[in-house]
Amino acid sequence: MIQLYVPLNFLGVIYRELKQGLADLDKMFVLLEREREVADAPGARPLAVTQGRVRFENVSFAYESGGRPILHDLSFEIPPGRTVAVVGPSGAGKSTLARLLYRFYDVPAGAGRITVDGQDIREVTQASLRAAIGIVPQDTVLFNDTVAYNIGYGRPSATPAEIEGAARSAHIHDFIAGTPQGYATMVGERGLKLSGGEKQRVAIARTLLKNPPILIFDEATSALDSANERAIQAELQSAARGKTALVIAHRLSTVVDAHEIVVLEHGRVAERGSHAALLAHGGVYARMWQLQHAQGGAEGVAAHWAQSP
Ligand code: ADP
Ligand code: MG
Repeated sequence: MIQLYVPLNFLGVIYRELKQGLADLDKMFVLLEREREVADAPGARPLAVTQGRVRFENVSFAYESGGRPILHDLSFEIPPGRTVAVVGPSGAGKSTLARLLYRFYDVPAGAGRITVDGQDIREVTQASLRAAIGIVPQDTVLFNDTVAYNIGYGRPSATPAEIEGAARSAHIHDFIAGTPQGYATMVGERGLKLSGGEKQRVAIARTLLKNPPILIFDEATSALDSANERAIQAELQSAARGKTALVIAHRLSTVVDAHEIVVLEHGRVAERGSHAALLAHGGVYARMWQLQHAQGGAEGVAAHWAQSP
């Protein structure tokens, strides 16, 4: 057995990974690496979510210090209970925003800050921050454990009925019910292999169950076929009602109702405003909207952005 010399407070965080054993060492080291990168400040206090106001204030970021800048002096605010949508071409830095808010990486000192209800997220405990945020990432990695565990992860106190309810909302219940062991089926590298869309729906179920005050959807339905996507979009929209949500969208039809739409290009805000204002502005967003509509809105936007000059 490999000895892991890590401070005690890491153990809670990595316990679930650890218990999967050695097959997952790669993933665990990635996690440890991340934890080293993002550590609780001495005397860090728990985040107190009062309203759920999220602010990016003049945030600049590069993955390696001195490396290629990914975000440039970026500012926007998600008012309590509102949705801000981020759209833009692949590589613009959209997922980076999500990773910074969830603190997979920290904004370096002097390069702006991210606050939740006025608290710099670098100064609160990671556990409290992550308890307040539900994230459906672009690529979901599941634990080598049961389906029930993977869905219930966000809320360990959840009952089997609650887990099933979340799975139904995420349109993954029928699939799970059809496997030999149902919710006790092992998934992951050593269990049942799930498709990208199935994994995405497990992550959605987990987040619906967790029901946190702040939501991040990073192209949360990009791996789904369009029938599933439409149905689940409705679930996500209703889950986001009254919550603070950062929605990274590959399909513009899902961002029409956002409080603000931020069009990100090369880590900078190219345009921002409501859907109506951006259409009236007649810029890149309006062009992308027209293009999607000309094609019946059924195509993912990523391809369209890629075609834009
Ligand atoms: P988007 O989500 O808009 O497609 P990302 O935020 O994922 O874009 O990536 C923005 C840029 O950062 C891309 O050029 C990407 O190659 C780079 N990048 C993403 N993740 C990493 C990483 N872990 N290390 C170094 N560069 C990265
Ligand atoms: Mg992305």
